[in-house]
Amino acid sequence: MRLLVTGLPRSGTSATANLLSRATGMSLLDDPEEVMAIGEMTPTTEWLTDLWEILDGSDIVKAPRLSEVLTQLQGIRSDFMTVILVRDPRDVYCSVMEKVRTGRRTTMLDNDRFLPLSKAPHDGVAAAAAFYHREQVRSYKLNPTQTLIMNYQHLAVAPDLEIERLSQLLGYDFNSLTVDDLLRQWGPMEAKFENVIVGPGRWTRELSRSVADRIFSIAGPDYLEASSFCICSLCELGGGGHGDS
Ligand SMILES: [Zn+2]
Repeated sequence: MRLLVTGLPRSGTSATANLLSRATGMSLLDDPEEVMAIGEMTPTTEWLTDLWEILDGSDIVKAPRLSEVLTQLQGIRSDFMTVILVRDPRDVYCSVMEKVRTGRRTTMLDNDRFLPLSKAPHDGVAAAAAFYHREQVRSYKLNPTQTLIMNYQHLAVAPDLEIERLSQLLGYDFNSLTVDDLLRQWGPMEAKFENVIVGPGRWTRELSRSVADRIFSIAGPDYLEASSFCICSLCELGGGGHGDS
């Protein structure tokens, strides 16, 4: 593994990993199922060392749950880059519920490990978001030159330019992406399960004020801190926090 793409599920990890793979020609391992065990136990160094053998089968690995053990993983080996996607936790919750409504099997509501005392699904998603963002920021601060944090919602403004920029920051050659690539990997991510266009800020249309406020009270500060390290072109120009309110 040369590059890990991680973040909360429904934060744009699939679209970003697929576009980076397509743009650089590097192989992609998408969600290795072995990583799912992280939800059931606390990985030991030995277990993570064994996991490396699987991760090493590909150049790029996309694995949301590795966000839960980022610093531990980076403590074992440091010869890889990490791209972390972050997204407004209220929009993450809308996107998770969109998948749930389709009746597909999902592990995205298995969040008891983050908030054992509440059964409300939005509390669980928010607690997972807070946990993920704290670990992501810790990892960024320990390995600032090998970690890139990007806000998915900033990336969606100009995906072709931002993926090119990301490729260059990672030190990879960039093969320009076609409009078809972007539509296939990006457009559908925004409306993967229900055939509607849903962009940044969907929570303002889909959530009650009390649920939105509850999610943001749990996960907002950690999300905003993680997002403050976004390396998109707008944030670099000093527009940090654009689109967040
Ligand atoms: Zn940004």
